[in-house]
Amino acid sequence: MTKNNLLRGIPWRFGPNWPGKRCEAKTRKGTPCQRPAKLPVGRCRLHGGASTGPRTKDGLKRLVESKIKHGRFTKLERSKAKARAEQGRIIRRELKELETWFIDNGHLKKNWRKDLDVFFQKTSLR
Ligand SMILES: [Zn+2]
Repeated sequence: MTKNNLLRGIPWRFGPNWPGKRCEAKTRKGTPCQRPAKLPVGRCRLHGGASTGPRTKDGLKRLVESKIKHGRFTKLERSKAKARAEQGRIIRRELKELETWFIDNGHLKKNWRKDLDVFFQKTSLR
């Protein structure tokens, strides 16, 4: 099969006089690695090292998108939720002011909520 294919394995066939760039890593023995450097960081495929992270804006975008499951906790969605919560607080504050005004001016009894509950229990309109 490979008997006549002389080009096969050329990247790995190198001796002490091999002219190419060698891996700059140190082996566990303490000697320099002798394999050819193929990666842009000047290391062989065994000593490639850790990822240096995304290099382009497009790559970073793809990385971010791969980490998002449903998008409910993105900055935009969080700010929208905060705005909705603030709107609810404003509305409840206004309702409270209206309630105190109605009670102060005699349009509602002080325990009108309790009376309303009793009314609903009697009529079973709930
Ligand atoms: Zn190496």
